[in-house]
Amino acid sequence: MNILFMGPPGAGKGTQAERIVDQFSVPHISTGDAFRLAMKQGTPMGLKAKEFVDQGLLVPDEITNGIVRDRLLQDDCSNGFLLDGFPRTLQQAEALDSMLADMGRTIDHVVNLKVDRGLLLARLTGRRICKSCGSTYHVMFNPPKQEGVCDKCEGELYQRSDDTEEKVGTRLDEYISKTAPLLAYYDGKSQLREVDGEQDIDVVTAEIVSVLRGSR
Ligand SMILES: [Zn+2]
Repeated sequence: MNILFMGPPGAGKGTQAERIVDQFSVPHISTGDAFRLAMKQGTPMGLKAKEFVDQGLLVPDEITNGIVRDRLLQDDCSNGFLLDGFPRTLQQAEALDSMLADMGRTIDHVVNLKVDRGLLLARLTGRRICKSCGSTYHVMFNPPKQEGVCDKCEGELYQRSDDTEEKVGTRLDEYISKTAPLLAYYDGKSQLREVDGEQDIDVVTAEIVSVLRGSR
């Protein structure tokens, strides 16, 4: 089973991906991990990527695509894979389709976790961190006993500057505008499966499983 996972930051994609790979016995491939592995192993693509990364430059698509292709050709992907964080653009999606075609494969399902922007904002801006011990809390989902105070060490809790509504809002809007064409692309190929990511975490998993089994 060849699966793509999509969803905005805060949609719970990582958690769901871990559960799905367990159930379907396919490897979870995130582009970040694939890059780190290729660079560590010193593959030709990994070495090229390292040159860009070391200079703080954006890695060109052809290298990113090459790293993904190398990863998908490894033995553990012979029964399928769950790809997460790739493709990010239409060009990458087309490149992925053509490399899979070369391998005689296609994508079976593109799972998109849908969560309302307002809820994502609440999830992503609610994080608080202890200044003294670094413990993390969430004002909605994991609040400290006393507001603004660490349960463990009574340290002061603060919000990271990246977690403010303005920064998170910008990040979400960028994600949404970038991925809209991708979703349309996969929808046009009847590969897109929308799953309501606002439900209870176990319900979301169950729904993804039934989607992948073709029973929804
Ligand atoms: Zn603390």
